[in-house]
Formats: sequence, structure tokens, C-alpha cells
Amino acid sequence: MTDQTRNHMHLYFDARSVNEGFARLVVSAFMTEMNPTLEELADVKTAVSEAVTNAIVHAYSEEERQVELTCDRCGNELTVVVEDRGIGMEDVKSAMQPFYTTKPEQERTGMGFAFMEAFMDQVAVDSRPGFGTKVTMKKYIGKENG
Ligand code: ATP
Ligand code: MG
Repeated sequence: MTDQTRNHMHLYFDARSVNEGFARLVVSAFMTEMNPTLEELADVKTAVSEAVTNAIVHAYSEEERQVELTCDRCGNELTVVVEDRGIGMEDVKSAMQPFYTTKPEQERTGMGFAFMEAFMDQVAVDSRPGFGTKVTMKKYIGKENG
């Protein structure tokens, strides 16, 4: 019998700022059947916005490229993956420190990864210079209700 708590979604969209809201809405819709609290929904939307914004503003310099978004649900576990094939990062550990930014002139504060880590239960970043970046985020939904 199929596991009714499993669900999977995968899409590509252009790395344009107009698609940040689109990605947030897609993930919200995907997780609706998990009966999230408003707070859980807001947390996930914020984390998705940060990861997708990073792919849009940092990964690609000129050419307009694609961002890949994957959502998986298994029971009360939600996994969201945001991936790009852009410039990647030399030193992920430093990049994830609060206030670290390579774009201070654009009024970036360097808090994107800190927000992802604060609002999700797990965040893993896999990046290779010249190949791209993959951000995998997990959150357990409805843990307040047992
Ligand atoms: P903020 O998110 O507060 O606007 P920020 O984007 O600079 O500022 P973070 O989201 O924490 O801060 O990212 C830190 C740094 O990591 C970025 O300045 C950038 O150098 C690098 N980075 C993050 N995501 C990517 C990515 N997808 N591709 C390449 N570099 C990235
Ligand atoms: Mg950011």
C-alpha cells in the first residue's frame, strides 16, 4: 500500500526576483496538508525566501539561469531543497556566519543563512565553486501537537 503521508514536488523556475514570492507560495501550498501552525508556515516561507533570494542574487552574475526547488513530505517531516548551478562558494562555513556578506553595497546584511538555521530544524549547504549550491532544509511540522 502506498504511504499516504508521502508527497513529492519538483520544479524549475527562472532566477528572477519576481519568482521569490512564487517559490514561497508553492512551498506553502505543498505543506498545507501537513496542517502547519501559522508560525510554522511563516518560518518555512522565510527560510525558502532566503534560500531562493540567494540563488537569484548571488549564484548567477549575468546570464539568466534557473533555480531548482524540491519539496518532500514524509509524515511530519518536510524537506525543501533549493539548488542552483551558479558560481558556488569557496568557504561555506564562513558564508554561513551571521553578518557575512559579499554584497554589502547592495545593503545585504548577511543574515540569510542565520535565518534559515533559526527557522528550520536542519540546514545543510553543499557548494562547489563554479558548479553551484544546494541548500537542504528540514522542518518537523506539528511537533507542538505531538
Ligand atoms: P542577506 O541574506 O541578509 O540579504 P546575504 O545574502 O549576503 O545577505 P546570506 O544569505 O547569509 O547573506 O549569504 C552569505 C553569503 O554567502 C552571500 O553574501 C554570498 O557571498 C554567499 N552565498 C549565499 N548563497 C549563495 C549562492 N546560492 N551562490 C553563491 N554564493 C552564495
Ligand atoms: Mg541572503
